[in-house]
Amino acid sequence: MKDRIYMDFAATTPVAPEVMEEMLPFFTENYGNPSSIHGSGRESRKAAEQARGKVAELLHVPPRDLYFTSGGSESDNWALKGATFAQQNRGRRILVSAVEHHAVLDACKWLQKQHFEVVFLPVDRYGTVSPETVEENITEDTVLISVMAANNEIGTLQPVREIGEIARKHGILFHTDAVQAAGAVPLDAEEIRADLISISAHKIYGPKGTGALYIRGGTRMDALLHGGAQERGLRAGTENLAGIVGFGKAAELAAQRMASDSARLTALRDRLIHGIQERIPGAVLNGHPTERLPNNCHFSFPGLEGEALLLRLDLAGIAASAGSACTAGSMEPSHVLLAVGQTPELANGSLRLTLGRETTEAEIDEVLEVLPKIAADLRGMRSGSW
Ligand SMILES: *Cc1c(COP(=O)(O)O)cnc(C)c1O
Repeated sequence: MKDRIYMDFAATTPVAPEVMEEMLPFFTENYGNPSSIHGSGRESRKAAEQARGKVAELLHVPPRDLYFTSGGSESDNWALKGATFAQQNRGRRILVSAVEHHAVLDACKWLQKQHFEVVFLPVDRYGTVSPETVEENITEDTVLISVMAANNEIGTLQPVREIGEIARKHGILFHTDAVQAAGAVPLDAEEIRADLISISAHKIYGPKGTGALYIRGGTRMDALLHGGAQERGLRAGTENLAGIVGFGKAAELAAQRMASDSARLTALRDRLIHGIQERIPGAVLNGHPTERLPNNCHFSFPGLEGEALLLRLDLAGIAASAGSACTAGSMEPSHVLLAVGQTPELANGSLRLTLGRETTEAEIDEVLEVLPKIAADLRGMRSGSW
């Protein structure tokens, strides 16, 4: 067994060896600028377009509607800002779920300062947004609905198909942040009636710093980055070619492996969830019991401090997370756990364990051995000091 156990695949994944191999030549021999006319440039252009085809296939969209970006955060920002600015003559109201990633939430807070009206839709105790709630909040001047496909903290899968149907029926744009869902569960842009979809390479065994935004053909959209004719004039800047090529390979692998990876991970996830429920008294499973990502296990432990738990796990060689990577280091309780109705105290005792391609049954059993001991120990220290 490896001497360290990595259970933070929702924060990021390692680059798959096949992906790495495909990327390497684009740092050295194949360095031409895809915008250049010469042969080397044309080779780079060809590689980028091949990659675009592979990433597009993961979402079942035409390659021409897929735009490369610097990652999920840029894609989310572009979707929210670009779509609302382009539609503002129709209205200025945006509906988003309260459990979105900060890239969506903070873009919305910025839009509020630009005098857009943002409605943060409540969720139920599993973190699910009900399609009825979405429909009830639609008004004449609503121009965009943004609900993520899968939550990055608690793993809940949203009813995006129903929500997309409602958006389309009312002629409102629908954006979904599919950074966690892509490659993990089947996604078809037209089936969920999405106009905009954000994805990121480093969550699917591709490189960090590369992502994409799907923009349905005909959607009016402003650019976020200005300056060059790249990406059909909508996203300026010389392409991150190696990253794009790696993203293409990662998407291809994800599509090939999705069914088998998901079956294996679901079994391991359930072994971990049931094991924790049996061994740690009072453990509260967060997220939907069944409509959740195959690799996500998320608990709140009453009377425990998440940060202390993480540090002790790290000492024991286990890498986990207290929630989203973006809130690590801050003691703010997770907005997702508050939205599902937890008290700040309970929310601060949370732990996210996310599994991946390298996760083995032996690692699950090791965590089930170590975690309950640490939890009991920390609880003992707490009660002992009072
Ligand atoms: C990781 C993540 C992002 C941000 O993607 P980056 O490529 O890291 O910028 C956005 N949304 C969700 C749901 C994520 O999990």
